[in-house]
Amino acid sequence: MTNGREIAMCGIVGFVGRGNAVKAVVEGLRALEYRGYDSAGIAFFKKNKLTSVRACGRVADLEAKLSDSESSELAIGHTRWATHGAPSERNSHPHSDPTGTITLVHNGIIDNYATLKAELEAEGAKFSSDTDSEIVAHLIAKEYKGDLLAAVESVLPKLDGTFAFGIVAKDKPDTLIGARRGSPLAVGIGENETLLASDAVPVLPHTRKVVFLEDDQVVVMTADGITVRENGKEIPFTPTEIAWSAEAAQKGGYAHFMLKEIFEQPQVLRSLVHNRIHIPEDASLPPELNMEGIDIPADYFRGISRIVMIAQGTAYHAGMVARNMIERVAKIAAYPEYAADFRYRDPILDPSVLVIAITQSGETMDTLHGVKLAKERGCKVISVVNTVGSSIARESDGVFYMHCGPEIGVASTKAFTGMIASLYILSLHMGLARGTIDAAEARRRAADLANVGPRADSVLTTANYIRRIAMKYKDNGNFLFLGRGTGWPLAMEGALKLKEVSYIHAEGYDAAEMKHGPIALIDENLPALFIALKGRRYDKVLGNIQEVRARGGKIIAIASHDDHEIDKLVDDVIYVRAESGIMNSIVCSIPLQLLAYYIAEARGCDVDKPKNLAKSVTVE
Ligand code: GLU
Repeated sequence: MTNGREIAMCGIVGFVGRGNAVKAVVEGLRALEYRGYDSAGIAFFKKNKLTSVRACGRVADLEAKLSDSESSELAIGHTRWATHGAPSERNSHPHSDPTGTITLVHNGIIDNYATLKAELEAEGAKFSSDTDSEIVAHLIAKEYKGDLLAAVESVLPKLDGTFAFGIVAKDKPDTLIGARRGSPLAVGIGENETLLASDAVPVLPHTRKVVFLEDDQVVVMTADGITVRENGKEIPFTPTEIAWSAEAAQKGGYAHFMLKEIFEQPQVLRSLVHNRIHIPEDASLPPELNMEGIDIPADYFRGISRIVMIAQGTAYHAGMVARNMIERVAKIAAYPEYAADFRYRDPILDPSVLVIAITQSGETMDTLHGVKLAKERGCKVISVVNTVGSSIARESDGVFYMHCGPEIGVASTKAFTGMIASLYILSLHMGLARGTIDAAEARRRAADLANVGPRADSVLTTANYIRRIAMKYKDNGNFLFLGRGTGWPLAMEGALKLKEVSYIHAEGYDAAEMKHGPIALIDENLPALFIALKGRRYDKVLGNIQEVRARGGKIIAIASHDDHEIDKLVDDVIYVRAESGIMNSIVCSIPLQLLAYYIAEARGCDVDKPKNLAKSVTVE
């Protein structure tokens, strides 16, 4: 079970035993294909000699490079979802140090890789990939004096970030070491064989006896069994008997990927903030923002005349949220546009306009064409993207990778909150560059964002309560979502989520617009969900709630945790704790996602694959 503490970044598999290790690992990689990946690779011992084979593309492409006779007793394999370095054969795993002493596969992100790499480079190290992972092979090889475990255990404390590793040494053909922090790792104990994998699925054909490693545990595996270690000492372990089907195991025990991804959000947000923001102790200094991928001088941001954000669907709603943030923080006119309209409208553009493209997949066709048009007109383009090396990322002048991990559920959830957080960091960067916020304000805002992970956690504890509300409203054929300010795009996103997964007709409106039309629809059969958090427009929203109430409409409100009045006005309240604008937008998204999910589930809908929808819209 992931409990929302882990972000799945594709997969690793390892096998030691008296079977055919290459076959077991290739089959294991196939079982992890559902996670999405861009390249695959394997390293295996054959006659005590370690060989690596890597391929861009599918596991089938890797298999085509392996000869049938390739059998061995130990192998590690990887499906990569690039985070550092483009998807390419050179960057695919396994990675080794230059002497080939240590070879490893890695899932996750080493946050402090740049510092570690610089230290190694100063000692003359040469790298054969652009990945963060390769650095770890160098570090372990430096420490390795014949005791692999000791070398691994001396390096792990130096790593910041998330990892699941499978590690081998070229002169130890019978030992595989696994380690984890933040990225999942399941260890299977079979008859004369042991396996490790990013989830239990590749292990299940071999054994149902599985140990789920905890953070900062290390496992030493041979054909005869495993030992588990923590803080440099062996510790007892109890294997779980897995009763799940392979399909349930893929979802980490959650009923759907959508639910799993909703629950991943606190961890996604924590990692995003950890990776991008450092607040120095000296209170006079602004936060240090890691703008990796955006190699654009600060001067440029001082000269821009306005910002156009191009996007579709959920990403467009993230752009609507970002508009308020950018205008407030960076004091520059910013607005979102549907990329599909933008590209055909002959928009007024010149080189002083910054275009920001927002897309999870980085492949959205309309957005890609919008990016091309913007570049033809001489604009700079920054993209906010989840998928490394995607077309839009490659076309852009700068790219801010969200690193949310693959999103499998078609209805976007963690990518939406990831986009908002990313755009907020971008607006802080622009605000500092433009001098529109001072160090103190930037620190305060960065600290607010850093608190979003824990706040997201606390909303998730109300999931069962939200499910009960969903049961009450699941049979309604129509729904209205209303909010003001940032509550407006959130209302639109809430309506979109509900439409997508439950097929209930839903509309999202600015609550101020209500009396200009939608109010005509209100009666006891049209429930209205209000985003009614305390803030600038709270009183206005209360007024709108009264208007709906006066017409007999049923009302659900998402309200601030310390609002003791609102429950007198509405039928159901979901309380959230959020102390700032940025927290409001992120924390408020989660109940909207859960409500859509539970309603769809109750209606028996195919939540992860709604009819007529595709995950990445690569057609116009
Ligand atoms: N950060 C590593 C890379 O970019 C691992 C990515 C993954 O989890 O697949 O290669």
